[in-house]
Amino acid sequence: MGKVKGGFFAELKKNGVEFYPGCGIKERTTFKIGGTVYCRIFAKRLDELSAAVKTAKKWGKKIFVMGSLSNVLITDKKINKVFIELGGEFYDIRKTGPSSVYAGAGAKIGSLTAFVIKNGLAGIEFMAGIPGTMGGAVYMNAGAYGKGIGAYIKKIHFMDRAGQCGIIENPEKAFSYRHSIFQENGYIVTGAELGLKKGVAAEIRKEIMLLIKTRHAKHPWKAFCAGSFFKNSPECPAGSLIERAGLKGKKVGDAMVSLKHANFLINTGNAGYGDVVKLAKNVKQTVYKKFGVKLEEEVRYIK
Ligand SMILES: Cc1cc2nc3c(=O)[nH]c(=O)nc-3n(C[C@H](O)[C@H](O)[C@H](O)COP(=O)(O)OP(=O)(O)OC[C@H]3O[C@@H](n4cnc5c(N)ncnc54)[C@H](O)[C@@H]3O)c2cc1C
Repeated sequence: MGKVKGGFFAELKKNGVEFYPGCGIKERTTFKIGGTVYCRIFAKRLDELSAAVKTAKKWGKKIFVMGSLSNVLITDKKINKVFIELGGEFYDIRKTGPSSVYAGAGAKIGSLTAFVIKNGLAGIEFMAGIPGTMGGAVYMNAGAYGKGIGAYIKKIHFMDRAGQCGIIENPEKAFSYRHSIFQENGYIVTGAELGLKKGVAAEIRKEIMLLIKTRHAKHPWKAFCAGSFFKNSPECPAGSLIERAGLKGKKVGDAMVSLKHANFLINTGNAGYGDVVKLAKNVKQTVYKKFGVKLEEEVRYIK
C-alpha cells in the first residue's frame, strides 16, 4: 500500500480515526505529571482501533494504550508516542449469562462495581475504589487484600500489534501478582468476561461501601498519586518497610512520601517526573540498606 500524501495524520483522517496531535496529558493523569504526547487517538470501535494500530505500524509510530492513567508516571518532556484511548463500544458492560459479565476495556472499575451491585453479582467487591479501567486492571492484574482481578476472568478479548483480534479462554496462567502476560506481549486488551457468583445486592453494596470507607481511612486518596508505588515484597508490605526506614514525609521537590501511607509517593503541588524518580530511587536505596529488600515499582514509568 502506497503512503498517503500528508503522512500519518492524513492517513488517520482518511481511515476515519479521531485524533488530537500535540496533546497535553498532565491533567489526565492521577499524578498530575506529564508532558505533551505526539498524538492521542480516541478509538470508539474495533475497526477504528485496528485502523489506528495498522496506521501507526506502517508509519513506524510507537503506541501506548491508555486507561485512566492511574498507575503511570509520565515524563514531563515531549513524548514521541501515539496514545490510544478506548471509548464508545469499549465502555460497554453487559451480562453474558446468569452470573457472567462482559466489560469493555474502557469501562471504569467504578461502573463495573455499580453494575455488579445492581445485578446482585458477587466476587469482585475487593476492586471497589480502584480508579482505573477494565483494560488497565487486566494489564496490571489489579486488586487488593491478596486478590487480583485475573482470578475472576474467564475470557480476554484482545487485539495484537498487527491489528488482528483474538480471544484467550481460561487465562488463569496469564496472571500473577500485579502482572499479566500483556506486560510482555504488548497486545491491547479490548474487553474481558468475568465469572462471578449470584449474591444479594444489598450485601454486595454493604461490602463495597465498607471497603471504600476503609480505603479512604488508610490511603491519601485525595492526593495526586498513582496508588501504591511499589509492589509488596513476599517478606513484608512495602509501606511497612518504607515507614520503618523513617521515610514518611521525605521530599524531593514537591514529591513526597505520604504521611498517611508510606507506599504512596504523592505530588504535593508541582512535582516533575524527575522529582518522583529521584524520590523513588532514594526510597529503594534506603530500604535496601536497612532491610536488604529490593523494592520493585508497581507504577509504570512512561518516557
Ligand atoms: C488512589 C489510587 C488507589 C489505587 N489503588 C489500587 C489498588 O488498590 N489496587 C491496585 O491494583 N491498583 C491500585 N491503583 C493503581 C491503578 O488504579 C490500577 O493499577 C489500575 O488498574 C490501572 O488502570 P488504568 O486504567 O488507570 O491504567 P493506566 O494507568 O492508564 O495504564 C497502566 C498500564 O496498563 C496499560 N493498559 C491500560 N489499558 C490497556 C489496554 N486496554 N490494553 C493493554 N494495556 C493497557 C497501559 O499501557 C499501562 O502500561 C490505585 C491508583 C490510585 C491513584
